[in-house]
Amino acid sequence: MRQPLVMGNWKMNGRRSMVESLLKAVMADIGDLFGVEVVVCPPYPYLGLVMDRLAANSTVVCGAQDVSAYTDGAYTGEVSAEMARDVGCRFAIIGHSERRTLFGETDAVVAQKFARSLAADLTPVLCVGETTAERDAGRTQEVILRQLSAVFKECGSSAFERAVVAYEPVWAIGTGRAASPEEAQTVHRFIRDVVARQSAEAAGRLRILYGGSVKAQNARELFGQDDIDGGLIGGASLAGADFVGICRAACIG
Ligand code: PEP
Repeated sequence: MRQPLVMGNWKMNGRRSMVESLLKAVMADIGDLFGVEVVVCPPYPYLGLVMDRLAANSTVVCGAQDVSAYTDGAYTGEVSAEMARDVGCRFAIIGHSERRTLFGETDAVVAQKFARSLAADLTPVLCVGETTAERDAGRTQEVILRQLSAVFKECGSSAFERAVVAYEPVWAIGTGRAASPEEAQTVHRFIRDVVARQSAEAAGRLRILYGGSVKAQNARELFGQDDIDGGLIGGASLAGADFVGICRAACIG
């Protein structure tokens, strides 16, 4: 039995006042949710504030939106996985499509970041997914296999024993056009099968999140699929009621 996981990726949004009011709204409703693990990933400057406000409530934990491919040193502007862990992060989003497309992160760089996260005792959440053009060309599985293989190459066959994968079709991110539950399930099954080729046990335990225009209205059906273990949420994680609605949809029972 895999515990459902819902993660909110706030991206580069918010100010102190927004962080305060968003967390207040989330915390007001989250208490009665059963069995779902909830993570929020604020921008780095607000990690301390969020950690402070979460301190009394262990049901929500913090994640980093990214970490450096390097360990500590002369890398201006970078934040290491060790630093993120040191300030209390438990998870790190790795290889989000915005990092890959806007900041030129290659599969190899993403794999290094994944490895740094594991070494720092952060749980890496590897984002994989195809673009519209790749999907239209029937290359979805090929792209995802390439993205997963880069991580296996860097970290070995045990790479996903202590990790999470997020399937995020690029065409569904921020577009209001989510994958259908059946479409998503097919790809999630494929991801689990690829991991099972290296370790059946790790594949069975691996949580695979779906991300891309998840709303409270479509979450239950998506999360009801056999191989969908929760969601990585962008836009809807910025509104307390919407985010809690999605978390509620992931609840057991
Ligand atoms: C994302 O950017 O990871 C994401 C899933 O965004 P949205 O929920 O807004 O589609």
